[in-house]
Amino acid sequence: MFENLSERLSGVFDRLTKQGALSDDDVKTALREVRVALLEADVSLPVARDFIAKVQEKATGQAVTKSVTPGQQVVKIVHDALVDTLKGEGDPGDLKIDTPPAPILMVGLQGSGKTTTTAKLAKRLKERDGKRVLMASLDVNRPAAMEQLQILGRQIGVDTLPIVKGEDPVAIAKRAKTQAAMGGYDVYFLDTAGRLQIDAELIQQAADVRDVVKPRETLLVVDGLTGQVAVEVAQEFDDKIGVSGVVLTRMDGDGRGGAALSMRAVTGKPIRFVGLGEKMEALETFEPERIAGRILG
Ligand code: GDP
Repeated sequence: MFENLSERLSGVFDRLTKQGALSDDDVKTALREVRVALLEADVSLPVARDFIAKVQEKATGQAVTKSVTPGQQVVKIVHDALVDTLKGEGDPGDLKIDTPPAPILMVGLQGSGKTTTTAKLAKRLKERDGKRVLMASLDVNRPAAMEQLQILGRQIGVDTLPIVKGEDPVAIAKRAKTQAAMGGYDVYFLDTAGRLQIDAELIQQAADVRDVVKPRETLLVVDGLTGQVAVEVAQEFDDKIGVSGVVLTRMDGDGRGGAALSMRAVTGKPIRFVGLGEKMEALETFEPERIAGRILG
């Protein structure tokens, strides 16, 4: 489907005579190919353009190492620059849960994988870190969503807050907070309602809950396959609610991962985890190296 970038570049460089250093023209020609690869990987045009400009500055005049071809060398420079752009500060998998019970607010559009990701993270904290975890669904409009979280909870052996009919999201959040404190839980997840689109009510609800529980982390779950839409969604959620990190789901799909680069470059928010399937184990800490490799093909 996609031509491998290294192959494409070696074609370009075969036509160029080898010199001691990467010339301006070599770099320009190579970066034209890199730009195509980025756009094919669904990186947005302005982000690709900025990125290429940065790499061009870095690459021009660099001595060509004997052991690699100029094409390979440009790929390496691009790869390192991608990792640099994608990397956040610290360990992305390190959630701020030092003061129990630590609230984690999960936000995102309906169908993004929010409930699944909540359960995956709960399982991870329970099994990897030995934490006592409580999960609560705040999706009062969709009883099925509340039940889904309960079912997942039973499956992974994590407690869920009992469902009480007729309660509003803020009341549920307050009950979760009390229950988490009284029950000696280390962490509690609040899985907020999702909608197909961002609207004022959705944002208001999440903001009200945020103000009541003061979450230690607000994680935005977005569908990694939606590319630019994911970036727009993230920007809006961050502007209106404030997020501490992003979880990109469906990275097991065909997407080339360009959304990750745009996400980081446009919103400045770190990607913390990636979802790699429907199973409860299919969650990984975000690794810039892996996504960089995937973008370059
Ligand atoms: P929510 O509406 O945001 O809570 O979304 P759900 O958690 O209900 O997920 C919607 C669908 O996407 C479900 O069928 C999930 O199993 C599936 N899903 C969630 N995360 C992933 C992922 O990382 N990869 C794949 N392939 N499917 C996922």
